[in-house]
Amino acid sequence: MASLDQGSDLLEGVSSVAASFGITCGVFSAIGALSFAEIAFYDQSAHIYRNRLMEEPVELISCQGNISSRGEKPFVHAHVSLAGRDYRVYGGHLVRGSVFAAEVHLRDLGKAHLVRMPDFATGLHLWADEP
Ligand code: ZN
Repeated sequence: MASLDQGSDLLEGVSSVAASFGITCGVFSAIGALSFAEIAFYDQSAHIYRNRLMEEPVELISCQGNISSRGEKPFVHAHVSLAGRDYRVYGGHLVRGSVFAAEVHLRDLGKAHLVRMPDFATGLHLWADEP
């Protein structure tokens, strides 16, 4: 469990907390509020992300994600549900999010070692069996 600093980036904060506990493969969830966020929808035909900037403060209703490896570096993948002052909910792949307040729960998956590799069919970096 961790509380992230105000003004920090949510993905970087999760990565930092994971590193501090030595977690290289895990899952996490978070709730709180963001001062702004950028989310994305993956265009499955074009194989590109279509981004949307949420420029106003939003409630971080839900954030689910995982920590694995991409190349030699840890990689945090997260999806979010966000609500603005009109209570509408927007969701998608989290690109970045500036923390107003965030409480994170991380779970270490131990010795499992998941590595992301390019996947031709989707255009994404997906988990692959180690060679
Ligand atoms: Zn995603």
